[in-house]
Amino acid sequence: MPICTCAPEIELSPDFKNNVKIMCVYSNLVGTASRNYNPLVINFLTNFSDGLSFNPGDVTFDLKSLDNTESATCTRNEYNDICTITLNQSYINNRAPVELAKTMMHEILHAKIFHSKLVAPDLFETMFLKYLGETTGNFGTDEHQFILNYYIPPMIRFLKDFDSSFGNSAPDDFYKAIAISGLGLKYSASELEQIMTAQNFFRSRGLNCP
Ligand SMILES: [Zn+2]
Repeated sequence: MPICTCAPEIELSPDFKNNVKIMCVYSNLVGTASRNYNPLVINFLTNFSDGLSFNPGDVTFDLKSLDNTESATCTRNEYNDICTITLNQSYINNRAPVELAKTMMHEILHAKIFHSKLVAPDLFETMFLKYLGETTGNFGTDEHQFILNYYIPPMIRFLKDFDSSFGNSAPDDFYKAIAISGLGLKYSASELEQIMTAQNFFRSRGLNCP
């Protein structure tokens, strides 16, 4: 599948570009933005209207084996503020495409939240507090809680769009379970079970893309 030309500014490392499965997932992630109105994807890939513009040049993608157990990391260069999203090579083969799409979007959200705080901290904090219904908060370490509070519904829509680009569909609860996985929160027993069930479902459909 050709890469959508709507996001030419995003830099991809050679290792990332040479991985067929990863490029398939990435192409469909970008393609989802061009085929459907999906605010989550569009807000990242283009300039948005929320006052917290994000330049695709502010992020790069890489792929390498990571020492830690995370499926990906988002590291910020303190000099130029560029976020490098590194996917863990060791995790690629046994993950379903939907899970990898979630991981990319999860890291993109870290990059976006970081950037929003950088360019418009007051606006970001105002939105955050308004959403939480609070008057004070800790914005330095709470990105996963922010994602949980704010981005799960658009994440579900994104995963649904992504999946449908392969002609697939699943119950919303399955997309939700994938969306909340990897947030490092205290999951309830039933949430953990839902995550396992969803992962098994998507993996049993096949690990290749497409
Ligand atoms: Zn994270």
